[in-house]
Amino acid sequence: MKFIVDSNVGRLARWLRIAGFDTLFINDLDDNRLVRLALAEGRVLLTKDTQILKRRLVTTGRLKVIFIEDIEVKAQLRQVVKTLNLSDKIKPFTLCLECNQPLVTRSKEEIEGLVPPYIFKTQTQYMQCPACQRIYWRGTHWERMRRELERIVGEL
Ligand SMILES: [Zn+2]
Repeated sequence: MKFIVDSNVGRLARWLRIAGFDTLFINDLDDNRLVRLALAEGRVLLTKDTQILKRRLVTTGRLKVIFIEDIEVKAQLRQVVKTLNLSDKIKPFTLCLECNQPLVTRSKEEIEGLVPPYIFKTQTQYMQCPACQRIYWRGTHWERMRRELERIVGEL
């Protein structure tokens, strides 16, 4: 399940990535290009734009669009997960939150010198984004987001 988010629900991209769903978000993409890209890459389009819903591609079912109702990002995530029945497909922290790339597991030796010393001392599991090189670990921030996800979508 892959997504593309319209700029009117841009914040949803980050939470979908946290949950492990491949999500494209490109700023300042006009509706035509947005729709074309969604179709070309087989992505479900998430939007608050009712005009998009009236397009032939959408009314004929060629392009799947979910009209996002809520203005609050966590409620939006809940809507997507519920609508598409995704709660057992959630894989937290498998994607880079910045560039949507699948994260690669790294050993402690590989990341030595690349994370703060106190992190290196206390954490054993690391992941890295092959695109931006950002390193992720299961620290307090990770734990907080995981709990938040759990709260949003129910049991994980
Ligand atoms: Zn990245």
